[in-house]
Amino acid sequence: MRLLLLFFVLLLPACSSSSDIRETRFIMGTLVEFTIAGSDHKQADQALKEAAAEMQRIENLFTIYGNADNAVKAFNASQPGTTVKLPAEVANLLSISLDVERQSQQAFNPSLGKLNLLWGFSGETAPDHPPPAAIINAARPPRQCIRRQDNNWIRTDARCMLDFGAIAKGYAIDRGIAILRKHGIQNAIINAGGDIRIIGSHDGKPWRIGLRHPRNKGEVLGTLSLVGDISIVTSGDYERYFDYKGKRYHHILNPQTGFPATASQSATVLAQEATLADAWSTALFVRGESGLPIMSQLGYAALTVDRQGRIHMNKAMKDIFNPSR
Ligand code: FAD
Ligand code: MG
Repeated sequence: MRLLLLFFVLLLPACSSSSDIRETRFIMGTLVEFTIAGSDHKQADQALKEAAAEMQRIENLFTIYGNADNAVKAFNASQPGTTVKLPAEVANLLSISLDVERQSQQAFNPSLGKLNLLWGFSGETAPDHPPPAAIINAARPPRQCIRRQDNNWIRTDARCMLDFGAIAKGYAIDRGIAILRKHGIQNAIINAGGDIRIIGSHDGKPWRIGLRHPRNKGEVLGTLSLVGDISIVTSGDYERYFDYKGKRYHHILNPQTGFPATASQSATVLAQEATLADAWSTALFVRGESGLPIMSQLGYAALTVDRQGRIHMNKAMKDIFNPSR
């Protein structure tokens, strides 16, 4: 698989100290960085090993890539209109995804698998031109094409294929943090290519998180100093993209058009669970500034950078955001 370094959110240097225990693994097509503070090595090593294994298990359960079989791929190959039983964990993440789809007014859509495979941003070879518009139109699923019947699931149309690419990384982080806690770890960060969950503090001080500038590499828009238990997830158009005839094409699609969403350069959401922060950062990216009131209703701090590069924040974000200048 293609090696992609997705550092949407930066852990600032002040955030690491010589007593930190760090480990990096390649999971879900991205680098996953574990940082543990204030623990002894033996305890941390075992916890890290198990957390990484759990995150790999989740990749295997949800991936639509590679050759190994799983229930998601079986659902995507099922005869439309027939019922399929999904493992409880998959059914649960699908239910959450369908809630976010409804609440985001269809900005988030977990049934874009066919379209996402067509665009190919997570394939073996990076794409360099868009597929023909007619083929995109033919791959676009009808609205609400996944139904639940008792404990079974149905796809109503062959264009309807599950893809948990916008939420499963967050879920894997939540599971990774749960495993660290099971081992008694109280202060840690899991950073999966810019999807972050922090717990506790860093040598008694807040963890400092920089939100990456979507256009100026190496620069941050500002910083957040956070303690406790919170996830910070950013979706952006600056890592998985190509330029074609003067236009940028990236991996976050507007479900209404089947083409890359054009409202934002990046969107950041803070929620306790990384699962929700991940799903909503994608939805907010698609909605742009108009999605901020939904974030406030749900109690999430959120920020978007629009296509002109202007920053928009809700009040909860303004209260905690330290701008760079
Ligand atoms: P996010 O905004 O969180 O998600 C964008 C991704 O969600 C897109 O890539 C697409 O898959 C999907 N999506 C696009 N538009 C929407 C929308 N409107 N609503 C909902 N979903 C949408 N990458 C590899 O290169 N190789 C791999 O083998 C690989 N395996 C993976 C396995 C799993 C289980 C997961 C979760 C991810 C994997 N990835 C892999 C990465 C994946 O393909 C996505 O690129 C990545 O999850 C995007 O995360 P993000 O934070 O950049 O963007
Ligand atoms: Mg996401």
